[in-house]
Amino acid sequence: MLPASESLGRYGSPAPAATAIQTAATVVLGVRACELRALGYLDKVFLAGAVEDPSYRARRQRTTIVSCDCVAFAETCFCTLVGGRPFATGGHDVNLTPLEDGWIVEVTSEKGHNLLGSVQPAQATGEQLARREDVRRRMTQRVADQNKAFSFSAGDAAAPKLPEGGDDGWQKFAADCVECGGCTNICPTCHCFYLYDQTPGPSTFERVRTWDSCLLNAYHRMAGGVHMKLSPRPLLLSRLANRVLHKYVYSPQQYGLAGCTGCGRCIDACPGAIDIRRVVQELAR
Ligand code: SF4
Ligand code: SF4
Repeated sequence: MLPASESLGRYGSPAPAATAIQTAATVVLGVRACELRALGYLDKVFLAGAVEDPSYRARRQRTTIVSCDCVAFAETCFCTLVGGRPFATGGHDVNLTPLEDGWIVEVTSEKGHNLLGSVQPAQATGEQLARREDVRRRMTQRVADQNKAFSFSAGDAAAPKLPEGGDDGWQKFAADCVECGGCTNICPTCHCFYLYDQTPGPSTFERVRTWDSCLLNAYHRMAGGVHMKLSPRPLLLSRLANRVLHKYVYSPQQYGLAGCTGCGRCIDACPGAIDIRRVVQELAR
């Protein structure tokens, strides 16, 4: 939803003309249920707080979401462990369910109707809808079955009891982390960003926002005194713990939503083979 980096405005003398946030109308196709949940989470972060993010708001309003039920899944998928399901339950404008003889198209918003325009799909039969329910039930069971080895309970309301960030228990996993930031960059709910100023002209400066990663040593380092202050979390185990605690403990407390949707991407991306399911399972007390 957010670009890799963006200008938040130019300032200086003479004052540059104010520009409205320009966003292109966008259709995102094939969004999975775990990503829909992530969008709901980002909406809470960027739109429901005391200060709304106008850039996110502008993009969100111009985006139409076409989701698609999962009919296959990766061995790293675990949405059912964190209260999710492998099919859309909300947050979409149009949802597609593939069946052997076609697609069930479900339109749930004005944006969805506008997208379909004059296209008028035939009414789904009761038998087709029953098959959709059957596909959904079987997919849910298969994802649950592949995660039988994990027994922690997590979700929007249920936070597993994990040790604090300074606890040595985290070191076992931190020892395999090479601080590449891959897990945070690929995660659909991670949203840490970094602000910096640059000078596009002699008397103007520009404020730019770019992605950041809480796993990196320089994260949250602040200017202070003569030298830059060190990271508030100089130990990698604390940073790794913070990421997992933020997903599983702080987010349910702060937003009423889990910060992990079980998409499994951070497991696929990690060169240290760190599996967040195993981290939570082993450290939950
Ligand atoms: S599985 Fe990993 S990448 Fe996916 S939402 Fe959870 S923490 Fe983020
Ligand atoms: S992807 Fe793995 S190695 Fe890279 S920062 Fe994340 S936990 Fe560490």
